[in-house]
Amino acid sequence: MPPVFRFAPSPNGYLHLGHAYSALLNADLAQQTGGRLLLRMEDIDATRCRPEFETAIYDDLRWLGIAWEEPARRQSEHFPIYRDALDRLIGQGLVYLSFESRAEIARQVAEREAKGAWPRDPDGAPLYPGAAKSLLPKEREQLLASGVPYALRLDMTAALAKAGALEWQEQGSGPSGETGRVAAQPQAWGDVILARKDTPTSYHLSVVVDDAVQGVIDVVRGQDLFWATSVHRLLQRLLDLPAPVYRHHPLVRDEAGNKLSKSTAATGLRELRAAGMTPAEVRQRIGLP
Ligand code: GLU
Repeated sequence: MPPVFRFAPSPNGYLHLGHAYSALLNADLAQQTGGRLLLRMEDIDATRCRPEFETAIYDDLRWLGIAWEEPARRQSEHFPIYRDALDRLIGQGLVYLSFESRAEIARQVAEREAKGAWPRDPDGAPLYPGAAKSLLPKEREQLLASGVPYALRLDMTAALAKAGALEWQEQGSGPSGETGRVAAQPQAWGDVILARKDTPTSYHLSVVVDDAVQGVIDVVRGQDLFWATSVHRLLQRLLDLPAPVYRHHPLVRDEAGNKLSKSTAATGLRELRAAGMTPAEVRQRIGLP
């Protein structure tokens, strides 16, 4: 079976040099190994994703000389399968509803922080501080009946007890040079959100389901997602999905050494193309042969 690679951008902005690095690396590896290259639009967030961004992504990738297997997969067309996965986790008693607004959560975090340090996840966001897990069934029913929006959270303690120790095979490296067999640390993320009242999935859930459905066995992506792999391994174990091999690559930095944000004139592919840069020069700028 040929290896299966994928590039999985979110069409919520234009591509920049960092995306080009990820896409070209996936394409190069697929070519070198006689593998397949898939393209996946991670467009579950209807408020931020737009058709013109999706079109621009196809244009930019074609301009770079990347050929993926048509058709690209759109996550927004597959909500029922994420819902099924969520239901399986609910069925295992690993999911609970949390009704706090973002403002309420921020208030609770501030209260904890005033009393001392409150843990943050690998992305720097405070862990969920709430007590929704212990809501009484009657309280939950009342909140549901009154239409309050909610998030569906993974009960991390229960999930860890069920899954046991996890690791993954890393062929690239993490932010501190982690490589080879890496011990997953999903507890560092707390009770992550798996879905919301209006969106029956989340990045973590859909990425894990899709990599399995699409038979992706080589996940090649930016180092900013290195520690998210802990949550992905946990969900793979709980949902009985195969574990891909991971290769996290260093991020492209701007001249000042900062992480790139969505498309700026200095690093946006459309802008660079309009300014006369060639695909060969893009490869050179990001250090690909
Ligand atoms: N859609 C994610 C992003 O644009 C990437 C997901 C992944 O490669 O796992 O950052």
